[in-house]
Amino acid sequence: MVKRAKPVISIYIPEGWKTLVKILEDFLDWHLKENSHIHIDVHKDNFEVIQIKEKFGGLRYYTNGAICEEFMGAIAFAENYSYHICEKCGDAGKLSFTHTGWAKTLCDKHRAELGYVIRERG
Ligand SMILES: [Zn+2]
Ligand SMILES: [Zn+2]
Repeated sequence: MVKRAKPVISIYIPEGWKTLVKILEDFLDWHLKENSHIHIDVHKDNFEVIQIKEKFGGLRYYTNGAICEEFMGAIAFAENYSYHICEKCGDAGKLSFTHTGWAKTLCDKHRAELGYVIRERG
């Protein structure tokens, strides 16, 4: 199991991204279990999750300890992919903004409900 640091800084996974984070952590678990013979020098250090959150509309997944390139790649993939999943419901989403500049990744329905619009950042 992917370990949470004690204490963690914060773990907040928006409802719509729970499946994405589950898939990421299943991959990390599988990699640790099935590939424990590789990256031994990296994985002998305890890798722990210290923070999961939403920032600027995207997932952020922070760890302490050394992580191997596969972990880095998987985490980067999940973080990038979160910009295509509504954080409220898990449907297809797009990065959206309020007029004051707050960002969230939302589907059409939740974008309208919450008063966000799609526009270029800036
Ligand atoms: Zn590895
Ligand atoms: Zn939605």
